[in-house]
Amino acid sequence: MKLHVIDTGFFKLDGGAMFGVVPKSLWQRTNPADENNLCTWAMRCLLIEDGDRLILIDNGIGNKQDAKFYSHYYLHGEATLEKSLHAAGFSHQDITDVFLSHLHFDHCGGGVKYKNSEGALELVFPNATYWSNPDHWKWATQPNAREKASFLKENILPMQESGHLQFIDPTKPSPFPQFDIFYADGHTDKMMVPIIPYKERKVAFMADLLPSTGHIPLPYVMGYDTRPLLTMDEKARFLKMAAYENFVLYLEHDAVNECCTVQYTEKGIRLDSTFSLSEL
Ligand SMILES: [Zn+2]
Repeated sequence: MKLHVIDTGFFKLDGGAMFGVVPKSLWQRTNPADENNLCTWAMRCLLIEDGDRLILIDNGIGNKQDAKFYSHYYLHGEATLEKSLHAAGFSHQDITDVFLSHLHFDHCGGGVKYKNSEGALELVFPNATYWSNPDHWKWATQPNAREKASFLKENILPMQESGHLQFIDPTKPSPFPQFDIFYADGHTDKMMVPIIPYKERKVAFMADLLPSTGHIPLPYVMGYDTRPLLTMDEKARFLKMAAYENFVLYLEHDAVNECCTVQYTEKGIRLDSTFSLSEL
């Protein structure tokens, strides 16, 4: 098995929204804000090359929204999904599986594109199966008022309409024997966090359970989370396991650090080290 970092560029989100009840005087030490209080975040996806399967985990924000939408997010950076796949030696046609941690637009927007100027949509990965799970799919397609703006129909429905969508049923044998899946319900319903055995370590794709190293202390929970108390509980459980087993935490949204480890301290679980995936 080989893992490839797939950077899809940076965007900006309000620092306060990203840290919930934590005051700026604390979070700005790790995540400095610009003059509009926006912080920079990565959209760092991961490609698993394993035998005849090429599994892409998340795919960024995509390029089919209008200028007004993108004006809120200040996309920047050289990296794109296409360039990063190419740099890893692959094209869109090669991807066999698109695994979606969850269906918020910054995680799945790159999986669907416009086919023509009339507004017809098509899959970016024509030979891939797109994977979600039944509970999250229902949650995303019948969204609550709070998350509605994050679940965009045009990102989601074409997966099903094209016949490429399949569900991972947590009660049945996994279609991904390569890795385990940790289910988290605090950020959104049934977000999936893959834990991948790799080079005698375990690499956890943290998605929005731990967006950046700045989110390691337990109260540092995103304002976007639908069930923040549950996130604290899930993070506590996960980070305890991660410290104990020396997990490599792969950070989808950290603008600076690709990976980190955590350790026990007197204050609780804290950052241990940061490094890039290629250093493993
Ligand atoms: Zn999210």
